[in-house]
Amino acid sequence: MSNELKGLLVVISAPSGTGKTTLTHMLLKEFPNMEFSVSYTTRPPRPGEVNGKDYYFVDRETFERMVEEGDFLEWAEVYGNLYGTSKSQVLKALNEGKDIILDIDTQGALQVKKNFPEAVLIFVLPPSLSELERRLRRRGTDDEETIERRLKVAREEIKRAPLYDYIVVNDVLEVAFENLKSIIRAEKCKTERLAEQFEKVVKDPEIVTLLKGG
Ligand code: 5GP
Repeated sequence: MSNELKGLLVVISAPSGTGKTTLTHMLLKEFPNMEFSVSYTTRPPRPGEVNGKDYYFVDRETFERMVEEGDFLEWAEVYGNLYGTSKSQVLKALNEGKDIILDIDTQGALQVKKNFPEAVLIFVLPPSLSELERRLRRRGTDDEETIERRLKVAREEIKRAPLYDYIVVNDVLEVAFENLKSIIRAEKCKTERLAEQFEKVVKDPEIVTLLKGG
């Protein structure tokens, strides 16, 4: 454990097409101390995706071995492919005082919350299902069948949004971004989070003593 303030574990979920990837990139630019957790997946890379940057692309056998060896903080099957978050990558970042952001599905997010109640779960909602459908079509990456499937999965995911700590509607991108920044800044000031590490944020030892109850 370094002398840095222990990092914040942020989990973002959203139906595909909501703008989660864009918002995550904006947050990474805004908070230089924040790292993206690169997941492992058995899904084949899409054009332009880079191994080690977007995902670690592995075969099913490797993934299953990693599950058995307890390498994942959480994992889930999404659209027939396996996805998992590396436990060591997340713990290392947090212990170094870095904030880490996980872009994972609802099954995975709820597993994280169970193991790490201090994780901050944020669900990004589209303004409406019709707008989501419009965005998916405009993106032009999916055929009709895939769009229908994504919309069906979106409804299932939205049902789990009330289990998250925060809900942000992405109607106007800049507004959603402001809300996300506010959530993260507020979480970093939470008394509960600072309680065991007052000396890392307050320089005056007398104040630290007072905060700790005299
Ligand atoms: P895609 O294949 O489009 O990149 O991602 C499909 C879904 O898998 C997205 O909802 C994404 O958030 C989710 N996902 C990506 N990485 C992980 C992970 O490590 N664990 C879980 N549970 N879901 C993930």
